[in-house]
Amino acid sequence: MQTLTTIAKEALLPLTGLAKTMAIYRILSKQIEKLYENYPALHTHRDVTLHLLEKAQEQEGSTSSEGLPTVVIAVGHSRKHDEGATTWDGSTSEHGFNLKIATQVCELLEQSGLVKPVLLSKYGGKTYSQAIKWLSDKVNSLSDVALVAELHFNSSSNNKATGHEFLYWHSSSKGAAIAQTFSAKMCETFPKLQDRGAKPIKKGERGSLFLRKLAPVCLLCEPFFGSNLSDWNTFKDQKAQRELATSYFEAIIESVLS
Ligand SMILES: [Zn+2]
Repeated sequence: MQTLTTIAKEALLPLTGLAKTMAIYRILSKQIEKLYENYPALHTHRDVTLHLLEKAQEQEGSTSSEGLPTVVIAVGHSRKHDEGATTWDGSTSEHGFNLKIATQVCELLEQSGLVKPVLLSKYGGKTYSQAIKWLSDKVNSLSDVALVAELHFNSSSNNKATGHEFLYWHSSSKGAAIAQTFSAKMCETFPKLQDRGAKPIKKGERGSLFLRKLAPVCLLCEPFFGSNLSDWNTFKDQKAQRELATSYFEAIIESVLS
């Protein structure tokens, strides 16, 4: 059995404050279940311990259960007739890939009980600018939005282009900090993948309308190049997709709650 110290090193290090406390509760519950697994005679004792832990967890979380920050996970290219780029093997569109990732991220966020996730995967509007207007109205109708992250993957006519980058509005210091957190988390999770870093975007540049028009902090995630042989060979794997979702999840919790 892993000790709490070992687990803490792996899972808790990036977390702070309430996020860390809640993560410790979840780890403790699992460890207690395991500890008593082979001792049915002690299950009453186990249940009392778990009950006490649950009560402590409820108390800890109760103050924030109402006013949890909202995190919007938007699937890029969610406008009708826009699927985005396609991977080099023609198998997967940006929208299809990111709908899977966004669903996993929202599940993790929901389970954490630390933020309110909202998944957007169908935009209104016929043109790109109409879709951004729709998105902006939608986000404004939600309360306490701490972050809007739109998920994409990159594509280039130069099939050697590789790596991950996170785009933010150039004058937003919060956006820069969040993009750097996402970048660092990707470096930890996928150390072999090239780090293109946090990228400031100005008016007229790619994604500027999205990053500029919405009131809360926005981030555009480009975790790899679908046009790159090696990048897509990494990310077509289910395990890597799960790791990507976890990496986003941890970066969101760290960004929003610290
Ligand atoms: Zn895209």
